[in-house]
Amino acid sequence: MNSQFSYLYQLRCSVCQKPYDPNQVQTWCPECNTPLIAEYRLDLLGSRVSKEEIVNRPNGMWRWHELLPVVDPEKIITQGEGDTPVLSMPRLGSHLGFSHLYIKDESLNPTGSFKARGLAAAISKAYELGITRVIIPTAGNAGGAMAAYAARAGMQAAVFMPTDTPEANQLECKITGANVVLVDGLISDAAVRVREKVRLEGWFDVSTFKEPYRLEGKKVMGLELAQQFHWDVPDVIVYPTGGGTGLVGIYKAIRELQALGWMNTNRLPRIVAVQAEGCAPVVRAFEAEQDTCTFFEGAHTMASGLRVPKSFADRMILQTIRETNGTAVSVSDEEIQSAQRIWAVQEGMFVAPEGAATLAGMLKLRDSGWLQPDERVVLLNTATGLKYLDLL
Ligand SMILES: *Cc1c(COP(=O)(O)O)cnc(C)c1O
Ligand SMILES: [Zn+2]
Repeated sequence: MNSQFSYLYQLRCSVCQKPYDPNQVQTWCPECNTPLIAEYRLDLLGSRVSKEEIVNRPNGMWRWHELLPVVDPEKIITQGEGDTPVLSMPRLGSHLGFSHLYIKDESLNPTGSFKARGLAAAISKAYELGITRVIIPTAGNAGGAMAAYAARAGMQAAVFMPTDTPEANQLECKITGANVVLVDGLISDAAVRVREKVRLEGWFDVSTFKEPYRLEGKKVMGLELAQQFHWDVPDVIVYPTGGGTGLVGIYKAIRELQALGWMNTNRLPRIVAVQAEGCAPVVRAFEAEQDTCTFFEGAHTMASGLRVPKSFADRMILQTIRETNGTAVSVSDEEIQSAQRIWAVQEGMFVAPEGAATLAGMLKLRDSGWLQPDERVVLLNTATGLKYLDLL
């Protein structure tokens, strides 16, 4: 049987459903000004490939290549991303009264954060489509990951980041030879500068959800979680939400696996978006029962990855939370720092402030009664605390 490397067959607008050709360079739907979503021939894939085959391949994100967008295996730009561990946390759990508490630890990815997954997919696909210059506005880790994969692909990279971006993020971009521009303001101000450069010089913009494939890379977290939970789902997944790529991606992954008939359950995990009190557009919109977010003025938090005043995928983030019966909760920087210390003392894990926010959020949901202490809860640590030394 001739099996394809990728079963990608089209992109579709998340709002008007108009299809777009994935063999051409695509950005977003110009009619709706909303993201494009990758769709795969799941019926064909399911009849030709088994999940056992995928499970038995060498470790890494690309063992899921049928569900990823790259068509030619030679075009994959990898640094070994993916297949991060799910570990139970018995000491932290019993300290806080939880009996089934887990971490999915994304700090083990190349560049020390889960941004590696999305950028590995986006840069590989861009390389396959012949793109040679990539540009990004970033709160930090996305820029570092883009610069790393662009260097390995031999592409030119330009990174626009706020002046107060953690030192490690600035250095990791510079050492790869990326053109780093510091911008007074927030990621949204950096994005304005990027749009200008794209218009004048024609760089390819790899901003969150402004191209369709970072979502696909981050989706693999959901594929791995399903396998790690033996084709079942945990009760609750707590996700530190900035642009929302991983939150939307994990949900997309579980839906694709259910459509393939590879899951042992039709249940969905309740997906929780945690944000910082100083930048909580999703929490505000969720509580106000809105379909989209309002730009969050004056955003500030030490968790730089959560400093996103409005996501381009706000509609999909809110849909994901509602369709999974999840919720959205905000935490203060003090709560984040205290969670970071408890986590380190109890389990020896030095998590990023964004990762620590998930623990702080979980405690709030325990106190409000939304979470039961015997539920299976997965906290996503999205980066290593070592990238934020100048903030401590
Ligand atoms: C970017 C980032 C986030 C937010 O991820 P999104 O998928 O954009 O919501 C969380 N944590 C860290 C460490 C990040 O770099
Ligand atoms: Zn559209």
